[in-house]
Amino acid sequence: REPAATAWTRTVCPYCAVGCELEVGVADGRIVAARPALDGPANQGHLCAKGRYAQGYVDAPDRVTAPRLRRNGRWESAGWEEAIACAADGLRRIVAAHGPDAVGVLGSARATNEENYLAQKFARVVLGTNNVDCCARVCHTPSAVALGRMLGAGAATNSFDDIERAACFLVVGANPLENHPVAGARIRQRVRRGARLIVVDPRRTALAAIADVHLPLRPGTDVALLNALAHVLFAEDLLDRDFLAARVDGVEAFAAHVAPWTPERAAGLCGVPPEAIRAAARLYARARPAMCLHGLGLTEHVQGTEGVMALIDLALLTGQIGRPGAGVNPLRGQNNVQGAALMGCEPGSLTGGARLADARDRFAAVWGVAPPATPGLNLLGMLDAARAGRLKALYVIGYDVLASLADARVAAAALARLELVIVQDLFLNETARAFGHVFLPAVSSFEKDGTFTSSERRVQRVRRVLAPRGAALDDAQILCRLAAALGHGASFAQPQAEAVWDEVRRLWPAAAGLSYARLQTRGLQWPCVDAGDPGTAVLHVERFAHGARAVLAPIDPRADDERADADYPFLLGTGRHLHAFNVGTMTGRTPQQALRPTDTLDMHPYDARQLGLGDGMPVRVESRHGDAVLPLRVTDAVAPGRLFATFHDPVRAVNRLTGPRRDTITDTPDYKVTAVRVRPA
Ligand code: SF4
Repeated sequence: REPAATAWTRTVCPYCAVGCELEVGVADGRIVAARPALDGPANQGHLCAKGRYAQGYVDAPDRVTAPRLRRNGRWESAGWEEAIACAADGLRRIVAAHGPDAVGVLGSARATNEENYLAQKFARVVLGTNNVDCCARVCHTPSAVALGRMLGAGAATNSFDDIERAACFLVVGANPLENHPVAGARIRQRVRRGARLIVVDPRRTALAAIADVHLPLRPGTDVALLNALAHVLFAEDLLDRDFLAARVDGVEAFAAHVAPWTPERAAGLCGVPPEAIRAAARLYARARPAMCLHGLGLTEHVQGTEGVMALIDLALLTGQIGRPGAGVNPLRGQNNVQGAALMGCEPGSLTGGARLADARDRFAAVWGVAPPATPGLNLLGMLDAARAGRLKALYVIGYDVLASLADARVAAAALARLELVIVQDLFLNETARAFGHVFLPAVSSFEKDGTFTSSERRVQRVRRVLAPRGAALDDAQILCRLAAALGHGASFAQPQAEAVWDEVRRLWPAAAGLSYARLQTRGLQWPCVDAGDPGTAVLHVERFAHGARAVLAPIDPRADDERADADYPFLLGTGRHLHAFNVGTMTGRTPQQALRPTDTLDMHPYDARQLGLGDGMPVRVESRHGDAVLPLRVTDAVAPGRLFATFHDPVRAVNRLTGPRRDTITDTPDYKVTAVRVRPA
């Protein structure tokens, strides 16, 4: 039994981007309890099991709290001075020999806004490269790009409070009851109180099971389905004609584009009944307001960005945008994944999403050095360049590249070619274990100050709950030490979080009003342009009021060569379950792990019978890219011919199965459609 807490500190949950605020109780220098902040803006007195019970990783026995260097193939402890000198010497040597673009930097969804800002500034000012990215690349970069292109801001249009205002939800490729549990519970409550629910998901998730209409589409056919929904809007005159006339261009061309996309045609591709498509379109269009929420089931595809664009088309056609309770809302997976990208950990844009081409002078005025003019490599491009021998060094902050990337064998081959891999994390993660040269021990979010940005654009204060463990430092301190060792101490002299944030506010006009003094409780939602601005709960209200117009985007489904066939007769998608978080670095070191100790493969009872497989049996799953052994779960939540596997267990290494296909616009890997076969292990 834990001792009673002697002190409580308010901070933000370290897991998903619902951004639940919690109070963390400490006794004898250890976390002993967590309770929800009763006035937490998104969580309103609730936490899911991860937020409440999964803090134990902070003091896990294998936490690394002193720097390490790999010598003669073995990790050895080192002092900070030696480790920083080693990392700096390696970077200096590689930049001198091959140029700054031979180095890549990866920021982190686990790091604060301030730390991510410093990480991209380090890449651009100290190294002189735009090769900087973050894990948004493997999840919601397609959402940010689609929303940015079509609506001018690459972020969720509405707020979690709008769940209570919505009369209908269109949930596409998301499983919020497991992956965003507090938001998922709010949606379920609202449905129980009368809101209508449409779920587009190949699996019968718990949310799909209570939906008015569940469209269990064939994986990878989202665009065809969304086109058919748009077809019905025109065919049955379910459009918001006034909204279209006042605010939307391209309507006629779009009507011609979706005219051939009858529900019957889409049904043949998507495997859902035409009448269900019609019913979904009617529900969504007639409910006022109706809210779209989407997840990685829409974005992690070869048409990830275009899929989100097709969803935005539906919102524009029905006028369900720029109003409370409506909009298009990506459910961001990691607490600060939006913040990491917005701070500039993105190869083609600077802090606040500023375009390189437009903003270099403005940044040079603050930094004293202009960022490089040419967009850099994204995460996938960095790995491609490493494989080709052009990228020589990677500096990875709070992210396990090897465990996270699709097509794991190819990712491993790329990492193996690097001359220098610097890993900055709490643990020797899979990337560090296999390929690291320098390990720099960082602290958890409970050991530092700063801000996170949640899925609803809310910037919230992260507060130090505990003293840093051992010799571990926060990411900002490490970046500043490394910058100083490389001769840039003067422009990296401010590791204090508030001072760094004030520099961000100077460069990002939409955050200018977000001073620490105003973020003490509940945070504020950007845009927030000055000290009198209350923040923005619903995007695009003013924009449309001032005459802005959006343009519909006609999208054609692309032919996809990843299909089930005689050799690989099943289509596999991967995802998460309630008790674990991503690749398990944190939850795998907490009591949550015991609730579901390893990854599993879900298969329909019909298929299991055909193959002579039983529940719990170990099975070997093989794709064209690799194989993995998983225990089988026989369940009718997946349809015959389709499989679902979780990816939390680095030992199972489910990403050995996924392949090289990527979103054609953002390079986001396709984790959702992989042809596989299954046999007893
Ligand atoms: Fe944390 Fe997300 Fe759970 Fe809230 S819903 S407690 S933010 S994991």
